[in-house]
Amino acid sequence: MTQKHSRQIREIFDRLFEAFGPQHWWPARTPLEVIVGAILTQNTSWRNVERAIGNLHAAGALSWAKLRALPQSELARLIQPSGSFRVKAKRLKEFVNFLWTAHGGSLESLFAGSLDEARKRLLAIHGIGPETADAILLYAARRATFVVDAYTVRILRRHFLIPSGARYEDVRKMLKAALPDEVGLFNEFHALFVELGKRFCGRRATCDGCPLAGMPHDAML
Ligand code: SF4
Repeated sequence: MTQKHSRQIREIFDRLFEAFGPQHWWPARTPLEVIVGAILTQNTSWRNVERAIGNLHAAGALSWAKLRALPQSELARLIQPSGSFRVKAKRLKEFVNFLWTAHGGSLESLFAGSLDEARKRLLAIHGIGPETADAILLYAARRATFVVDAYTVRILRRHFLIPSGARYEDVRKMLKAALPDEVGLFNEFHALFVELGKRFCGRRATCDGCPLAGMPHDAML
């Protein structure tokens, strides 16, 4: 990580914030909804997750006790709109069971200790990968970690800030090293990357009018 890279990353944030403004993430009301959403959003759009969460809400199932009591097949039926619903129902159940058996149902206990300790605990749960763990830690536990999603990787690669094939952990550490350790900043930056990815930097880049068009980039990367 050079000082130049660090400056560029901060410039990206400034440009995106100026162009898009605050994003008010995560789009959920409670830590429980953040966690359920972070598990359900794997490989699907947020719109589908909202429909699944709407079903859980309508069924009165949006509490840890209810999620714990609900049979897995019924949970799968309710979250069907989020896709891969049997796998995701299993993942939700694994999370809830772990929360109960290892932490007595307490998120405070699950998130206790250093960021690395809490992260290790989450990553040990079957079906929770680094991106989901970091989303839970940042948006439900308010811990200063960076969520490295596919948009973030693509944008950083096209702006020569990471090599092709960079590992998740290396990108996360690079972003953390470039920025002050502030939860609010990491929260906003991830949301801004997602907005940029949706509006301009998809599989095919639309650089015309993009807030980062004035920075060195190669849209073919
Ligand atoms: S659309 Fe072009 S300018 Fe914008 S982030 Fe992607 S590569 Fe960079």
